[in-house]
Amino acid sequence: MRNRYDVVVVGGGNAAFCAAHAAREHAERVLLLEKAPKEWGGGNSYFTAGAFRTTYAGLDDLVPLLDEVDEERLARTELPPYGPEDFLEDLMRVTHGRSDKTLASILANDAREVVRWLKEKGIRWRLLYERQSYQVEGKHRFWGNLALGSVGGGKGLMYQHATAAERSGVEVRYGHAVRSLLPDGEGGVRGVVCRSDDEGEQEIEAGAVVLACGGFESDVRMRAQYLGPGWDLAKVRGTPYNTGDGLEMALKLGAQPYGHWSGCHSVAWDANAPEVGDLELTNLLTKQSYPLGIVVNAEGRRFIDEGADFRNYTYARYGAEILRQPGAIAYQLFDAKTEPLLRQDEYTAPGVSRYEARSVRELASKIGVDEEALARTVEEYNASIQPGEFNPAVKDGKRTRGIIPPKSNWALPLDTPPYLAFAVTCGITFTFGGLRIDEDGRVLDRGGRPMAGLFAAGELVGGLFYHNYPGGSGLTAGAVFGRRAGYAAARSVRG
Ligand SMILES: Cc1cc2nc3c(=O)[nH]c(=O)nc-3n(C[C@H](O)[C@H](O)[C@H](O)COP(=O)(O)OP(=O)(O)OC[C@H]3O[C@@H](n4cnc5c(N)ncnc54)[C@H](O)[C@@H]3O)c2cc1C
Repeated sequence: MRNRYDVVVVGGGNAAFCAAHAAREHAERVLLLEKAPKEWGGGNSYFTAGAFRTTYAGLDDLVPLLDEVDEERLARTELPPYGPEDFLEDLMRVTHGRSDKTLASILANDAREVVRWLKEKGIRWRLLYERQSYQVEGKHRFWGNLALGSVGGGKGLMYQHATAAERSGVEVRYGHAVRSLLPDGEGGVRGVVCRSDDEGEQEIEAGAVVLACGGFESDVRMRAQYLGPGWDLAKVRGTPYNTGDGLEMALKLGAQPYGHWSGCHSVAWDANAPEVGDLELTNLLTKQSYPLGIVVNAEGRRFIDEGADFRNYTYARYGAEILRQPGAIAYQLFDAKTEPLLRQDEYTAPGVSRYEARSVRELASKIGVDEEALARTVEEYNASIQPGEFNPAVKDGKRTRGIIPPKSNWALPLDTPPYLAFAVTCGITFTFGGLRIDEDGRVLDRGGRPMAGLFAAGELVGGLFYHNYPGGSGLTAGAVFGRRAGYAAARSVRG
């Protein structure tokens, strides 16, 4: 009986553990198979900041979730309400109205309940003061509608998930790569074939299988094939193990591809970062304070509107803009006025590509950009800034006029030495294309029919994200659809 389970979950990130926790509420024998060895367990979810986009009527609504409450700080905290309709609107706006309406509504509507459920499972919550708030007039003002995160970031999240699974009796096997799905001969699935170094290849029978084994961002060939030229050169921000396995095996059995297969989430990532995620530094290699400064390419030219919106709504598409620049490199520039406002953990992490100079020309020479070109860009930018009050906690409308691209908010002159530059390249986070699921996480075939015994959640679900993504939605989507898939998988086994 060792190789017969009620529910087998493939993958070991946030979506997989959510599916396993949910399945275990109703099913006796739940097995989670993770391809990576234990030290690389946790998938991309391990590398995250642990930021979950959820909804709330206000600060009081989130307080009961929090692990520790600092009353004095809470009294000085301002958090504008963010309802399911706001989440849905943000998702639709950034995806150009393309997000699947059913999946998008589920995500927005379940986002609050799922974090409560996760707390019950043992996930510990905190407010993301250092990442998502600024101190203005003595108050901590949250911006970008992303306030809640797991204690210990992604590392803490995955530790808490693994502890919860152990407590509830979910069996977890690391170093077990699922190679294929066992067809039931009627268009459905009756188990998996997996491989490990110790046990070799084996068949595992299952009442239901939940695929939660990530996208194809770590497969260089698939990146070039689906995302297009140049994407083979992007650095991978997280796990090297998300190589599209789940997608390939489900498509082979007739699952329906869905969503934005040529699209992905990618960000400004330290140019010194290794080719795949760093288990120690994890998300610290990101560089997300660019709305406070300007970004230039290796020719000294600006190429994005750094202040188009809060960084939560622009960062996931700016990696692709950097990839398109000469040498796939760019420089974020700040001065002494903005330096104290930078996310300190990201900009002072060990080994970051930081340059400092007393003048813009000296900075240009240090980063290897033409001095004349950079000096002209900075002069034109400084001269184009319109009057208005700078406030990083709101879209302050302090903008440029007469330059292309504009800077639409938070435009402060770059005029106070020392000047700082940080070299960034494109870091790919995850891919948007995936499998088509229904509201219970059942994988649909090319004719739109559920494939018996097959469910999916997390990055390998298609149809939610197109072009862009509201920050913090990946973990929430994995939790919402992982939980639904886990429940439905267990239900399907019980008949
Ligand atoms: C640096 C970084 C920071 C991020 N920060 C945030 C954030 O703060 N908030 C947010 O919402 N999102 C964030 N994201 C995005 C987020 O990580 C993903 O959206 C989310 O974690 C995906 O969860 P998942 O469970 O689908 O995939 P993963 O967590 O990647 O898990 C997939 C797992 O499947 C395993 N696997 C692959 N193939 C097989 C196979 N054949 N057999 C068995 N197992 C297999 C992999 O080893 C991996 O462990 C970040 C991502 C990165 C890389």
